[in-house]
Amino acid sequence: MKKKITIVGAGLAGSLCALYLTKRGHNVSIFERRNDLRSEIITAGKSINLALSTRGLTALKKVGVDDEVMKIAIPMDKRIMHDDKGNLTEQLYGNDGQAIYSVSRAQLNVLMMKLAAKNGADLYFDEKCVEANLEQASVVFENTNTNQKQTVTSDLIIGADGAFSAVRKQMVEQYDHDFKYNKIDHDYKELHIPAGEDGTFLLDKNALHIWPRGEFMLIALANLDGSFTCTLFAPKKGEKSFEGLNSKLEVENYFITIFPDFLKLVPDLYCQWIANPTSGLGIIKTYPWHINDTAVLIGDAAHATVPFYGQGMNASLEDCRMLDELLEKHTDDLKSCFEEYSKSRKPNGDGLQDLSMQNFIVMRDNTADPAFLLQKEIEKKFSNLYPDKWIPLYSMVSFTNIPYADAWEIGMKQEKMMEEIMNTPNIEKEWKSDKIMQKMLSLV
Ligand SMILES: Cc1cc2nc3c(=O)[nH]c(=O)nc-3n(C[C@H](O)[C@H](O)[C@H](O)COP(=O)(O)OP(=O)(O)OC[C@H]3O[C@@H](n4cnc5c(N)ncnc54)[C@H](O)[C@@H]3O)c2cc1C
Repeated sequence: MKKKITIVGAGLAGSLCALYLTKRGHNVSIFERRNDLRSEIITAGKSINLALSTRGLTALKKVGVDDEVMKIAIPMDKRIMHDDKGNLTEQLYGNDGQAIYSVSRAQLNVLMMKLAAKNGADLYFDEKCVEANLEQASVVFENTNTNQKQTVTSDLIIGADGAFSAVRKQMVEQYDHDFKYNKIDHDYKELHIPAGEDGTFLLDKNALHIWPRGEFMLIALANLDGSFTCTLFAPKKGEKSFEGLNSKLEVENYFITIFPDFLKLVPDLYCQWIANPTSGLGIIKTYPWHINDTAVLIGDAAHATVPFYGQGMNASLEDCRMLDELLEKHTDDLKSCFEEYSKSRKPNGDGLQDLSMQNFIVMRDNTADPAFLLQKEIEKKFSNLYPDKWIPLYSMVSFTNIPYADAWEIGMKQEKMMEEIMNTPNIEKEWKSDKIMQKMLSLV
């Protein structure tokens, strides 16, 4: 039966979900708090480049929009690590032909909104959800320009309104759903490497650049115009933290000593430093993700995470695909559909969050560690010899649709086995021998 559906939030999850639902013939309206990004992209110093990987692409492909998205994406097949002397090392992410993709969040969002509108969804902007009756599927929106309120009633509300979701807030307050928000001790700030002359890229555009420095790190992803969007992740307090970075001298000294090759690429560093906000990061857990057959959460509203695995958006897009599969399975029985969705997706939301926290350590610490890079080489060799026995964790997460919870569990078992392998005497020389491959085979 065709439904009247209200989606709160025209972000990546809301727009893709609208595409899925209009394709099923439903009558979909999206209400978005911000102004219409399609006419003017305003990012307020948080332009954010996203790494799009296989599960995000799978979700886009199922509604036939992956080709459109690939036109604004730059493949990254490797990490390039910058040490404190400016020396570079590389690590391929997967096998030949495997890559993740750098894409501007705002550009992708505009594209997704256009595609949703083209497919029949109605979009309303400057409309902020301030209240909802989740059992009646009615939402009160306040216009952010006029302050005028309107109540919109439909058959179903989809809460796609991000980490600070107003729809989730109603679920938690009115129905006592579990809710936890854990802020981490690190903040982030965006910086920008401009394009060189004639729009040339000043760094290799087909890599995710990392300056790993233990407690903190800097990363850079390429944009289509030759520039790079960079993000510094550092502790809020303590030595070399945001706390001590205020004056021009403090900021420039910090970059000269810690990221010398970066400073050379950003002539107006301090102007950017004061213009761009310092923002927090955290993990949101909630449960269940639905009310009856009348309200359901998708994306960050259900499982916001820290950005260190580059999977928040990918998981949000995957939610839309999984919800669509369950709508197909349960046809008109939305209650069973949402129950199964909540139950099956929640462990994957948790898995995604565990993976994201663990990858922070990998990125900021391990990518600078020769033993870690060697371990990854050994795993890769074994995986190429026995692809049905071993997929490295990064590949499971980024190049397959294996559920996050399974990837996390398998990854932790693999890590234990690799500890044993890495303890083999003289492993730096021995690893190429058959003996090591045989030992791994016996362990799996
Ligand atoms: C620094 C950083 C780097 C990241 N890097 C990656 C990456 O590399 N790869 C990746 O996969 N993910 C990444 N992410 C995560 C990714 O950005 C999010 O997971 C993704 O945007 C979630 O999509 P969403 O649609 O659920 O939420 P959002 O994109 O937050 O969209 C929610 C929408 O709802 C609107 N809204 C909010 N409240 C209301 C309201 N009350 N009424 C109406 N509308 C409302 C908002 O304005 C917004 O448009 C990163 C995040 C950060 C912060």
